[in-house]
Amino acid sequence: MDLNLLINFSYIISTVMFILGLKMLSSPATARKGNMISAIGMLLAICAALVSQGIDYKWILLGMAVGGGIGLAAARLVAMTAMPEMVAIFNGFGGAASLLLAWFEYSGKYQGLESAPAFTAFVLILSVFIGGMTFSGSMIAYGKLSEKISGKPYLFAGQHIVNSLILITTVILGVLFVLNSGAGNGYFILLIVIALIFGVLSVIPIGGADMPVVIALLNSYSGLAACAAGFVIHNNILIVAGALVGASGIILTKIMCKAMNRSLANVLFSGFGSTKTAAAGKGAQQGEIKPASQEDVYYILEAADSVAFVPGYGLAVAQAQHQVRELGEILEANGTDVQYAIHPVAGRMPGHMNVLLAEANVPYDQLIEMDEINPNMETVDVAVVIGANDVVNPAALDDESSPIYGMPIIEVHRAKTVIVLKRSMNPGFAGIENALFFNDNTRMYFGDAKASITGLIAEFKG
Ligand code: NDP
Repeated sequence: MDLNLLINFSYIISTVMFILGLKMLSSPATARKGNMISAIGMLLAICAALVSQGIDYKWILLGMAVGGGIGLAAARLVAMTAMPEMVAIFNGFGGAASLLLAWFEYSGKYQGLESAPAFTAFVLILSVFIGGMTFSGSMIAYGKLSEKISGKPYLFAGQHIVNSLILITTVILGVLFVLNSGAGNGYFILLIVIALIFGVLSVIPIGGADMPVVIALLNSYSGLAACAAGFVIHNNILIVAGALVGASGIILTKIMCKAMNRSLANVLFSGFGSTKTAAAGKGAQQGEIKPASQEDVYYILEAADSVAFVPGYGLAVAQAQHQVRELGEILEANGTDVQYAIHPVAGRMPGHMNVLLAEANVPYDQLIEMDEINPNMETVDVAVVIGANDVVNPAALDDESSPIYGMPIIEVHRAKTVIVLKRSMNPGFAGIENALFFNDNTRMYFGDAKASITGLIAEFKG
């Protein structure tokens, strides 16, 4: 068979595997298989691309061994709470790869030799600019998430004007480059420098706590850069894979913004999540809190016909997922109906709770989405809130002055009894008090979630 035909056929198979994999990522039950199918599709695409180039493979193999080794070690060693940081770095490297590819192509084929066709010059610039800003922006996102630099939003007067001027300069330089790409070396280098600066300036005004949304957006940018790089080197699979990453990244960004009831503009420009305003919104605390002891909680759970666990960021901090699953199994053996109510932005990254609970082998059919559990909340005997705060804060429904007003929540306050596991009365991500904790039907079970649940398991066993 003709080699070219075989390569293009492999690309089509890879494309189908990417799309299938992405589709399967949308459900926890099929996500692992989807990830595997996409990875195999990528391996096939890489092999086909290498064969099509007919190059000296020893450097490629060395690069793959080093890069693959680092990637494998990073993925295995990273703590679950540090996953967004790792994704930030990987996005950044994706952007840098597109930039370097375009740079290499330009310096090898056109620089000082001949003008590139206008379309090629255009995609060269796109790939360099988007790739460069994705790289530097992602590095800032990584720095903020890992607290290597301050997570505070850095806002200065005239910021929007500076950013607008940068974009206008980019367009002018881009046009000059397209018109004169053979001798346009200076424009090209200047565009790279501007892209790197623009990436930094775009991300520094955003608070560290909003970084997961930014990372989803940067992920989309890295896909667009790869797509442009695909046009530069005329590689169909890079175009397709880049477009898929670009599209899915932007869809994810939109889903996250919707789940927080915030616009993308609000995330990018408002500096939200930077300051911990203790009691924003009208006086949240009404009444007394009612602490519960381990024994109290044991008796409540022991008598319950139905229990809904509502995990949040504190579950990830405490790493209590295995204990929660064990408690769930004990309750089921006791005749209790057990469910896990999942809020789309619980935790600090999309799918955070799904990943944690999947790691602990919680059965997928017990994971219930917010929209599905809310209408039945009145029938739940006990809602056990484990390290969640904002995603169960009723101020989102009834307090227009609250910064989270309008955000959909898991309406645990409508359950017959609510037990909240947390260490103190400290607020969560949004920095606001939670009236739920003062409700008549709420009992506060203070302590680290892992220790608290371990204690309950001991009560049931003993
Ligand atoms: P929150 O951040 O609102 O609350 C987490 C709670 O966990 C805190 O109140 C804390 O209280 C408690 N906690 C921390 N450590 C422990 C521990 N070891 N044991 C027990 N409790 C603990 O989390 P939610 O999941 O409810 O909400 C997520 C927030 O993050 C939302 O506001 C969302 O908009 C935002 N966000 C989410 C993103 C995502 O992709 N998921 C992205 C960006 C933002 P205490 O210190 O008293 O223990």
